[in-house]
Amino acid sequence: MSIWDSRQRQAFRRRLRAWYAENGRHLPWRESRNAYRVWISEIMLQQTTVAAVVPYFERFMRRFPTVKELASASLDDVLRLWEGLGYYSRARNIHKAAILLAEQDGCFPEEPDELEKLPGIGRYTAAAIASFAFGKSAGIVEANTLRLYCRLIGYRGNPRSKEALTRLWAFADEIVPRHNVGAFNQALMDLGATLCRPRDPDCPVCPVRQHCAAFEEGSQDAIPAPKSRPAITYLTDVCLVVENQGRYLVRKRPEGELWAGLWDFPRFNIDVRTTSSRVGGHSKSERMNKRKKDSASFRLTPSQLSELEHRLNELTGVRVRVGEQLAEIQHAVTRYQVRLIGLRTRFESGRLKRVSGLKWVRKEELAELALTGPVRKLCKHLW
Ligand code: SF4
Repeated sequence: MSIWDSRQRQAFRRRLRAWYAENGRHLPWRESRNAYRVWISEIMLQQTTVAAVVPYFERFMRRFPTVKELASASLDDVLRLWEGLGYYSRARNIHKAAILLAEQDGCFPEEPDELEKLPGIGRYTAAAIASFAFGKSAGIVEANTLRLYCRLIGYRGNPRSKEALTRLWAFADEIVPRHNVGAFNQALMDLGATLCRPRDPDCPVCPVRQHCAAFEEGSQDAIPAPKSRPAITYLTDVCLVVENQGRYLVRKRPEGELWAGLWDFPRFNIDVRTTSSRVGGHSKSERMNKRKKDSASFRLTPSQLSELEHRLNELTGVRVRVGEQLAEIQHAVTRYQVRLIGLRTRFESGRLKRVSGLKWVRKEELAELALTGPVRKLCKHLW
């Protein structure tokens, strides 16, 4: 059963379109309806803000202007351009999907269910490409529209539950028009991002407030229900910086590890602690500050240092003596809060094991590798 009747839907579309014509955001990926540009931008925008994505998107398009050029690049090159955006499985999936698309002469399927068969493309991204690039009548639900729909229909439950997502997708498909769909969906996203903000929505100037159940009830601040955060896992890792005759030992992180495919100095975890899950609660910066205070009292013991020397030898075949601390870097990645300690070492003996993912590189080559973000920061303390 429809939530809104057809008159209400039409009035809503008319008001939304009029607002969008005046207030729509000008974004580089909206300059054309090219499916490749839509796809790359949508993947980059997952878990990342528009402001952070713009320079990455422009650099990516200059380096890989077409899907065929992306497909013929190495994964290392793709990861290097992605460095700093995080959630690197997105870059690995983009590369895999580009190779599949290049086999079809670089042509994208136009229907959402066909697009969803490509690696890394879920229901939302498929609907975005199908509607923005091909004008297909497909509703969308992403972070901004999820919040907007919850408020429009007065949905008070957990917006990420299966039941909620079924309702919200049904609502999205109900309100989407048959024509000019891309602009309509972009208008919904822009309204969610700029007026129907998570906190302090700008209801007095909202063009669709006549249709909004939360506005009518005055419950905008309570809808949607706050997200429950996953438990944060606190880790302490140590990176050993091994230099021999002007070359540095690096390791490519294998599948199944965080940052798979990126290069690191040999890294070892020495401590794991987990907190309980919370609803709302501490922000990322509060967690960082807490860890900074903890770190003042943290020291590696002599037995931990000799254990690290032993683990490095097992992993790489190289013997070192651990030396001074270079830096301590706090960083957060997905549900992990990591304290990374970088230690200089003195090379003593040994030959590098002949296994893939280990190599010696010069300083200039190191700068060209796709490094994990914390190791890139650590390098600034090296020279
Ligand atoms: S009236 Fe307020 S809560 Fe409702 S859609 Fe507009 S901005 Fe969002």
